[in-house]
Amino acid sequence: MSTFKAPKGTYDLLPPDSAKFLAVREAIAAPLRNSGYGYIETPGFENVELFARGVGESTDIVTKEMYVFETKGGDRLALRPETTAPVLRAVLEANLHKAGNLPVKVWYSGSQYRYERPQKGRYRHFSQVGAEAIGAEDPALDAELIILADQAYRSLGLSNFRILLNSLGDKECRPVYRAALQDFLRGLDLDEDTLRRAEINPLRVLDDKRESVQKQLGDAPLLRDYLCDACKAYHEEVRELITAAGVSFEDDPKLVRGLDYYTRTTFEFVHDGLGSQSAVGGGGRYDGLSEMIGGPALPSVGWALGVDRTVLALEAEGIELELPSTTSVFAVPLSEEARRVLFAKVTELRRNGVAADFSFGVKGLKSAMKSANRSGARYAVIAGERDLAEGVVQLKDMESGEQVAIGVNEIVAELESKLG
Ligand code: AMP
Repeated sequence: MSTFKAPKGTYDLLPPDSAKFLAVREAIAAPLRNSGYGYIETPGFENVELFARGVGESTDIVTKEMYVFETKGGDRLALRPETTAPVLRAVLEANLHKAGNLPVKVWYSGSQYRYERPQKGRYRHFSQVGAEAIGAEDPALDAELIILADQAYRSLGLSNFRILLNSLGDKECRPVYRAALQDFLRGLDLDEDTLRRAEINPLRVLDDKRESVQKQLGDAPLLRDYLCDACKAYHEEVRELITAAGVSFEDDPKLVRGLDYYTRTTFEFVHDGLGSQSAVGGGGRYDGLSEMIGGPALPSVGWALGVDRTVLALEAEGIELELPSTTSVFAVPLSEEARRVLFAKVTELRRNGVAADFSFGVKGLKSAMKSANRSGARYAVIAGERDLAEGVVQLKDMESGEQVAIGVNEIVAELESKLG
């Protein structure tokens, strides 16, 4: 072991398990690529103000969880705790929204950083795949994203998850509700911090996980009863479109989310096998965010799915992904001359698209064959001095154990034909 360890709240992705993470990212991305979403990548850090304004000054993310630092040039930056605000910043900066082709549909994949109290499923460095559809107010777009996330999870074989759906209203009806909720909260027995939160962002009190708070919220007014006609109609259409697609969901009138920018459609994917960190993904509409960060009005909707928790969900359901074995052929040289010959064959196989690996370092046959086994290769190619003197190499079928001599000049073609 070295003197150093991974920082608290982080962990390393190591082979072979890391293959699962790649497969999860790929499975989430595939339906997006297939639905008009283009790949976007933004820096891992941004001006801290982008998050303060975009995510919300009173959110836990901004007040407690951001990794903020000052550069030598005096800029105040933050490691990104989420990627919606950065994506919108990038789209506005590049004027993609002016290209006359709204909505701008993009997807991303990357690390997020939050200084949280670590526990299983909650890390300080984690990974999300996200999708954003920017610049259109259309219930079909909200429905599309929910359907695509559902498709992604199902393509991984997951079934033990639920979709929670709510509407947070808009700038017409939410303030009326907010005031009513505040009135209600002021009458409760809450600690000072929570009372302060009730004044700044009362909706977030609904999200308080503490039993002592939750048990007082039974009679809290619900946003559902305050939605204006436009929000009601919008929400109803989202629900109808999802239902028509055969995607089931639960109405959750108390669902709010930790980020301030959400309006109207809000949803969360929860997995029932994950204990307290049960949210595997979430998102919603954020019609006001563009204006909050200095842009024009650009109604938008998006989600972010957590890769780490999706992997935990797979484990909870006992799902083994069918991961293609990475190595098809493993070469085992038993002499100096064989090293040169087989190394050249491995190079040729690789150039022809066959996944091949080689026994590196000086090893005896036994330990080299162990490496061949561990690699998961379908075939091993073994050669020693005597083989080469006869112009052959040994081709071993790692499943049946059968071994045959093949001409040195024929081995690449033979392997290609065997592997199809
Ligand atoms: P959020 O950006 O908070 O809406 O989170 C979206 C998804 O990211 C969640 O549903 C989780 O799957 C994942 N996520 C958020 N925070 C963490 C964390 N600290 N550790 C691991 N995954 C997280």
